[in-house]
Amino acid sequence: MKVHEHFILGAVISAIMIAAGIGIESALAFLAASFLIDIDHLIGYALKFKSIDWKKAKKQFEGHELAEVPILKAFHSVEFLVFTLVLSLLGTAWFFLFLGVGLHLAIDFVQQQFFCPEQIRKKGKRSWSIVLFFLKYGRSGAE
Ligand SMILES: [Zn+2]
Repeated sequence: MKVHEHFILGAVISAIMIAAGIGIESALAFLAASFLIDIDHLIGYALKFKSIDWKKAKKQFEGHELAEVPILKAFHSVEFLVFTLVLSLLGTAWFFLFLGVGLHLAIDFVQQQFFCPEQIRKKGKRSWSIVLFFLKYGRSGAE
């Protein structure tokens, strides 16, 4: 799912949360988490290609969100989700931040598993774990 689609879905759910009486702080934490974690696509691209050409980075992921070269997307990982779960011990807004990350990852996972063409999925080098990424591709991210 593209960033603006994550934002729209997050905004709709946040508006429902506010209408349901959940605090604005929690709704904003949910909204922010639901789309801002996609920044790791750009960070991963910049680290991999030593470039901050956002247009090329966008093209890299456009359409299928699966890189054909291994690029670590740290916020799209089980480890980051667990980290946000631990942060949720700090308070309600943090818990909604965790829910926003969880929703984003769930949508991306479902999209990859069920709506991404198989030939692209097979070529993709996406990892849902930071640890498994480094075990598979090494520190340099090379195969
Ligand atoms: Zn994503």
